[in-house]
Amino acid sequence: MSKPIMISVRGLKKSFGQQEVLKDINLEIARGEVVALIGPSGSGKSTLLRCLNLLAAPNHGVIKIGSECFDFDQTVPAKVSDRAMAQFRAQTGMVFQHFNLFPHMTVVQNVMEGPVTVLRRPRAHARAQAMKLLAQVGLAEKAEMYPEKLSGGQKQRVAIARALAMDPEVMLFDEATSALDPELVGEVLNVIKQLAERGMTMILVTHEIAFAREVADKVIFMRDGVVVEAGPPAQVIDAPTQAATRAFLSRVH
Ligand code: ADP
Ligand code: MG
Repeated sequence: MSKPIMISVRGLKKSFGQQEVLKDINLEIARGEVVALIGPSGSGKSTLLRCLNLLAAPNHGVIKIGSECFDFDQTVPAKVSDRAMAQFRAQTGMVFQHFNLFPHMTVVQNVMEGPVTVLRRPRAHARAQAMKLLAQVGLAEKAEMYPEKLSGGQKQRVAIARALAMDPEVMLFDEATSALDPELVGEVLNVIKQLAERGMTMILVTHEIAFAREVADKVIFMRDGVVVEAGPPAQVIDAPTQAATRAFLSRVH
């Protein structure tokens, strides 16, 4: 039996003014699958992730994540209730290139903040959960420090723990290692790899092609708002059928 579908995107379109940035995107991602989303700058990768958690409002299409579904051909995004939006959004945790930690809060407070204020969890419970997650990303001993004392790699691991604290079904990473010094990239990729081994469904926008080959079940190559090629790494990275994919890979490899 095939695995249940976690994310399904049908006919997704997104424009900014006259510019159509996503042109009829169709995807299916199974529960526990790890997808690497690659492609040149400006191809619409960030916009696609932002549509998946409604940070950007799609113009057309249907997005299903887990048990939630939005049909943007039927629904006017501006009229979606805050509650429905929050419920949909809660299924995905997003990690950005820049970590956006709260500078006036300690590491553990950063991780507890969402569960306490959004999920209304008791503080003691949220703290215990946060400590577990910090241990999972190898930062238990930094719990009482402020973010400014951490390296970029450590900050990004806190950002991952913070996203996980909201119990998402899916993790979305938008160039999570692009802002890091090269020697700090590995520690963040290791945390992502552990999440993959634990069966987390993930979409990784990345320029780390070797890493994509190693952890991804599926690679999606996008250009100019279109999925050009998608399949296992052995196909898309090692034996691309499209000239655009080959040209891109020869530039980033
Ligand atoms: P990528 O992440 O692949 O580099 P993006 O999704 O960031 O690509 O951008 C795709 C295109 O959409 C680019 O041409 C970009 O300028 C445009 N774009 C992205 N966000 C906005 C926005 N908020 N307003 C207007 N144009 C945008
Ligand atoms: Mg981007």
